[in-house]
Amino acid sequence: MTAQLNARGDVAVVVPAAGAGVRLGPGAPKALRLLDGRPLLVHAIRRIAAAPSVRMIVIAAPPAGVEDVRTLLADVAPVTVVPGGAERQESVAAALAVVPEDVAVVLVHDAARCLAPVSLFERVAAAVRDGADAVIPVLPVVDTIKEVTPDGAVLGTVDRSVLRAVQTPQGFRASVLRAAHAAAADSHTDDAGAVEKLGRTVVCVPGSDHALKITRPIDLALAAHLLTLPDAD
Ligand code: C5P
Repeated sequence: MTAQLNARGDVAVVVPAAGAGVRLGPGAPKALRLLDGRPLLVHAIRRIAAAPSVRMIVIAAPPAGVEDVRTLLADVAPVTVVPGGAERQESVAAALAVVPEDVAVVLVHDAARCLAPVSLFERVAAAVRDGADAVIPVLPVVDTIKEVTPDGAVLGTVDRSVLRAVQTPQGFRASVLRAAHAAAADSHTDDAGAVEKLGRTVVCVPGSDHALKITRPIDLALAAHLLTLPDAD
């Protein structure tokens, strides 16, 4: 059944889904790889559409796959699909360009984090509504982290207590994200990084183990197991 979005919501969710996903091995664009028989993008959009604050969903699809993505999601939720770019940042910019000016909060969410729970979207949006320019969901770093030379010699051990692993959805006051994209020169900077470069403060909220990024084949196996569990925060 097609989900309904909240016409009075104050949030647009921009979903870059135009990446090839080469680290998963050969096959379809990553967002269209199957998890439990459904494309990752369908899992992601179902959760986004269930978030009560969400008024609009914009997807940046592989340019050759725009029509396929529209067809795929026709029965899932009302979405706007635009062609993505060569870099993630270009895909986000293309999607952001069609978000109406009266939407106050924009969340940017990677389709690859397709099991991010509804509660995480609401937590990030609430922190922006409470006054933050930019909000990132984070988890503590559990591994010991070493700084190494290109040939693998250890230079030192990094203090992991000051490190965080960053997830999506990342949330922004819409005007701040537009300004950050207009100013961004470095294509490797993530959205929150572009806001940092503007000199604005980025704040952290707790992330979710379920918002893991599906990158390697083992992540698909882990995600399949997570689907058997109840959604968590
Ligand atoms: O490649 P990576 O895993 O970092 O991609 C993160 C997200 O950005 C994925 O959801 C991918 O589809 C998206 N992306 C995009 N356009 C690109 C490259 C990546 O929308 N040109």
